[in-house]
Order: sequence, then C-alpha cells, then structure tokens
Amino acid sequence: MSNKTNDIADLFNQYVMPTYAPAVALVSGSGSKVIDMDNMQYIDLTSGIATLACGHCHPAVTKAIETQAAVMPHCSNLYYNTNMILLAQRLSRLAGGAKCFFANSGAEANENMVKIARVWGAPRGRYEVITFTKGFHGRTLAMCAATAQEKIQKGFDPLPVGFAYADYNDLESVKAAINERTVAILLEPIQGEGGVLPATEAFMKGVAELCREKELLLLMDEIQTGMGRTGTMFAWEQYGIRPDMFSLAKALGGGLPLSAVVAKPELAELLHPGMLGTTFGGNPCACAASLAVLDTIEKEGLLEKAKTSGALFREGLEALMATYPQILEVRGRGLLIGMVVEGSAKEVVDSCRLGGVLCCTAGEHVVRFLPPLNISEKDLEEALDIIGDSLDEIYGV
Ligand SMILES: *Cc1c(COP(=O)(O)O)cnc(C)c1O
Repeated sequence: MSNKTNDIADLFNQYVMPTYAPAVALVSGSGSKVIDMDNMQYIDLTSGIATLACGHCHPAVTKAIETQAAVMPHCSNLYYNTNMILLAQRLSRLAGGAKCFFANSGAEANENMVKIARVWGAPRGRYEVITFTKGFHGRTLAMCAATAQEKIQKGFDPLPVGFAYADYNDLESVKAAINERTVAILLEPIQGEGGVLPATEAFMKGVAELCREKELLLLMDEIQTGMGRTGTMFAWEQYGIRPDMFSLAKALGGGLPLSAVVAKPELAELLHPGMLGTTFGGNPCACAASLAVLDTIEKEGLLEKAKTSGALFREGLEALMATYPQILEVRGRGLLIGMVVEGSAKEVVDSCRLGGVLCCTAGEHVVRFLPPLNISEKDLEEALDIIGDSLDEIYGV
C-alpha cells in the first residue's frame, strides 16, 4: 500500500469501528471502472455490492440526483413527495399491480415486510415466518433472527422470536417447518450472500404451491436479485410465480440509500396512517435516482444485456474451470454469478484486486461477480483475462 492509502487506513483504524476490513480507498468511478487514491484503476465487478446497476456515475442518474438536490433534498413523509409517488406507480406496473412502502435499507424493508405479514396473520394468531439456512436478510436484530447463519447471529442473543428455519431447495424441510403459527415463507430467489445459489424451479413452484395450500404469504427478498440483476426486472418473474410481497433495496436507489416493500394491494389495505414509518424513507433524491435507473434499464435494454453479458462472462469462467480443477462450479443467473472454489475465495478476490479487478466473496468458498448491467464486452473480456492471470498465480503449476 502506498502512503496515501496507508494514511487513510490509519485514520480508519483509529476512528471507525472495526466491522469491515476495507482493502483499497476508491475515489472516483465511471461506468465499470474505478480509481483508487493512488491512481490504480480497476474494473469493478462488484458495482457497490449490486447497488450500481447502471455503473458508476451514469449521466442520467447523476443528473437526476443533482437536479433534485438543487431544489429539495428532502421533504419528509408529512407531505406528498412526487418522486416517491411516481416511483411507486412505476414499481406497481412492473409488479403487475401493487402498493409500495419506502424505507432506507434492505434490512428495514424486510422488517416492514414481516410487520405487514404479522398484521395479516394476527387475527388467526399467526406470526411465524419460515426462512432458510444460508439465507441473508440484513443485520437489524429481527433480520439477524431471520438470517439463519451462525456468523450473523452469534453474540447478539436474545434475538427476536417468530422465525423458523428450513433448508433451501428442500421442499420437505419446508413442509416440516410449517405449523399453526406459520404466517409466511420468506426467501431469496437466489441466495446471494449465502453463496450465489439459485432456487430450483421445482422448489420455487413447490413453495408457492405450499403457500396457496396452507394459506401462507409468499415473501420474496429481491434486494440483491431485483432491478434487472438476473435478466428480468425481478427474479421471481423467471419462475412463473408471483409473491404476495417482495423487498427491493441495493440497486433501487441508483447508489443512494433506498428500499421498498412492494405488496399486493389487499395487503396494503391492512395499513393505516401511523402504522409504519421512517424519516428518510422515499427520499426525493433517492427516488429521482431510482426513476432514472428504471428509465436507463429500459432505454439501454439492460435486462437483455444482463442475460447476454451474463452468458458471455459465464462462458469465460467455465473455460477457466476447464483449466483449473480448483474451480468446482460456476452458477447464478444474469449478472449475479458465483464461482465456487475449493480453497479460499478471499485469496482469489485479493489476487484479482492486485491485478486490477474488483470482485467479492459470498461465503468462504464462493467468489461473487456483480458487474454493472451495462458493462461493455471489452471490459468483461479484459476482466476475464485478469481473473485468468490471477487464478494462474494461485493455482498454476
Ligand atoms: C444486502 C441484502 C440485504 C440487506 O440489505 P441492507 O441494505 O444491507 O440492510 C438483505 N437481503 C439481501 C438478499 C441482501 O442481498
């Protein structure tokens, strides 16, 4: 590390709680490229952990934020907020008819989704939500309870009650977890943090069928998979099912903090003023950015691009898999791709970064790639070359 990065790392260590272990100090970005404090350039295959669907500083998104920031950066939910209302209309149309509640983070959206499910279930004494081992739903206390992973829960007892766990892609385990308290099943269409593991079609259809049969709500966490990441606006579209409610965050705000619960109208009818709330939820700048993201996804055909670029990138990784037996599997959908390795995923991530490519881990053995949906073929190919060189350094003989 050079002096500049060292200096900022020293300040971090002195003043910031050690909850993350950052590697470099990024200062600016454009499209799929970012630059660090010491002028090293990287191809960014993390997109701010799937927040920048249109890449860094997309002109339409930047302009939308600038324009709104110049007239009213925030207005509170005591008054009509036009951007938020227009965004709700857009999301409703995309979801096939729905009403929205806006919050700030993914965890907060999921919490509110669970609250709405409880309001629905309360008259019949039902409140328990089934979630899945290796799932991830955020870091608030209730979402730690919803996230069935020891590393997320450890040290924070007592956790809120009202969650039961089943195994992903195992319908029998879901059946076994259902009881008279069960109100809903909450799952990710692809487990992101848990290792980029897609739900099988049979499993997803089975879960939807179980929900119908047992009168349970089907809740989908689309925080990582939503906004075109997997090749459709929402990943659930690919399974021929429709959830009763789903949550969005990450890419929703075009890089600004914004999340949403998108619910069938009959669930929204259970709410009245004062029941749910948040000061910043639906912030006008974040909603302006979100509208620009939706426009850009449409104008630039980014759903199709996520599919074609995803296929291209997977092909490249599969070619590397043929060379290195240490690569066990390449999986995912669209531009949410995981490369399962025998050894440490972090070792691969670190080596790629030194070579000029940013990627991240999803658990111990999965390297996760989340490029901007509009990444160019050229950048993807260059990234594949660098990844190949990095793997050669680690696995080569
Ligand atoms: C990132 C993520 C969350 C948590 O979002 P935050 O904004 O960090 O609270 C929840 N669920 C999934 C699937 C995620 O990928």
